[in-house]
Amino acid sequence: MTKESTKQELNKQTERLEDKPSDEEEIGLEPNSSNFDELPNIDKLIEKRDPEIYKTPIKLTFNAYKRIISYALRYASEAISEKNWREAYGILIGSVENNEKVIIKDAIPMVVGERAGVKYENKQYVDMAQIDESVYERSIRDKKNDFIIGWWHTHPGFEFRFSDIDTQTQLGYQLPNPYAIALIFNHCKLNSNNFYLGLAALRLLNPERGLFSSYDYINLEVEINQEKMINKVQKVIKDNFKNLPKILKEIEYVDDILRKRALAQLQRNYGLILVPKRDIIITDKEEDAEEDDRYLYEWDPEFFKKSFRIPKFREKIEEEIKRDEKILQELLELNELKKYEQKKDKFKKKIQVMLSKPNDWFNQLSSEFTKRIEIIYPYYDYLDTSERKILEHFESRSIEYNKILDSLNTRAQFNLSLE
Ligand SMILES: [Zn+2]
Repeated sequence: MTKESTKQELNKQTERLEDKPSDEEEIGLEPNSSNFDELPNIDKLIEKRDPEIYKTPIKLTFNAYKRIISYALRYASEAISEKNWREAYGILIGSVENNEKVIIKDAIPMVVGERAGVKYENKQYVDMAQIDESVYERSIRDKKNDFIIGWWHTHPGFEFRFSDIDTQTQLGYQLPNPYAIALIFNHCKLNSNNFYLGLAALRLLNPERGLFSSYDYINLEVEINQEKMINKVQKVIKDNFKNLPKILKEIEYVDDILRKRALAQLQRNYGLILVPKRDIIITDKEEDAEEDDRYLYEWDPEFFKKSFRIPKFREKIEEEIKRDEKILQELLELNELKKYEQKKDKFKKKIQVMLSKPNDWFNQLSSEFTKRIEIIYPYYDYLDTSERKILEHFESRSIEYNKILDSLNTRAQFNLSLE
C-alpha cells in the first residue's frame, strides 16, 4: 500500500468516524439516543480499555482461510517468478464470542497491488461500505453479531511485521474496535514450524500511541485441525489453479463483449435508460453513472429533459404509445367498441414491431449472461472487488433496461379500461 493511499484511507476511515457525532450534534440528537451510543468518543473508549483486550485470541474458519490463500496464491506462489510477486488485500468478517474469542468467519478478497504495497481505490471503499451494510443486515436477520472484524494482506516472501503503513491501516480498524485483527499471509512460510498455515495474526498493543504503538502476534486457532485444514485447502487451490484462468476469461467476456459492446450498443440503438445529465458532465465512464431507481411510469418529457438526456428510441416509443392510448381511450368513452378493437389490434402490432428488435437483442444478451454466470458462480468466493463489480454492474444495467422494456411490452397490450 503506498503511503499516500494509506493516508487517504486512514483519513477516510477517521473522517467517517468523526463525521457522524458532529453531524448528530448539529441536528441536535439527544445524548441518550441509540445512534449516539453507537458512536462513542474514541478518547474515552481508549481510556476505559484494559490492555488484555488486545490479546483476545482468534479462531479462523476454513471458509475464511480458503478465500485468503486462494486469492493470495494467484499473485505470489512458487509457480510465479519472484520478481512478479504482488501483495493482495482483503477484509475479515466475524464476531466476538463472549468477549473472549474472535471468530473469523469470512475473508473477502478486495484488491491486488504491487510487490509491497496495495492501493485502495474508490471502488474498494464502495465495496467495503456495501459489504459492511449487507453483513449488518444479515446479522440482524440471523440474530448474529457479525461485522468487519479486521483486514488481511500478504507479505510475499517477507516477514510478519507491521510496516508504518500497516500500523496506520490497523489503527483505522483497531481504534474504533479493540478486537480488530490483522492477518498477514506469506506463502513462503507455509509448513514452517511456527506459521504452519502461512499466517500470522497481529494486533497493536497500545493503539492510543498511534504510529508509535507496538504490536504482537495473537494466538491463532483453527476451526479444524491444522493438517486437515491444509489438506482441504490444497484441493481448493488445485481446482482454482486449473479453473480460475477460464473463469477470469468469462468475466472479461462479460465486461468487453456483453457490457461494452452488446449492452452499450443496444442502449445506443434502442435507448431506454435515461442518462442523468450531471453524470455526462462529470464522467464518460458508464459504470460511474449513478443508477436511479426512481423512474416514472408517467412519461413527462419536459420533466425528464431538465435532468436527463433522453434516448431517441425511448422518446419515440413513449410518444407513440401515449398517442395510441389517447385515441383508444376516446373510442372507449364513445362506446365505439368495434372501431376500438380494430385500432387496438393495429396499434398493438405496430408497437410490437418497434419493440421486437430490442426484445430479441435483450433476450439473447440475457441468456448469454446467464450462461456465463453459471460457469462463474462456483468461483465467486475467489473474485476480488473489481471482478465482482463487473458482474454486478452488468446485472444492474441490464435489470434497469429490462424493467423499462417490460413495462413498454405490457403497455403495448393496450389493456385499457373506462376511467
Ligand atoms: Zn504489510
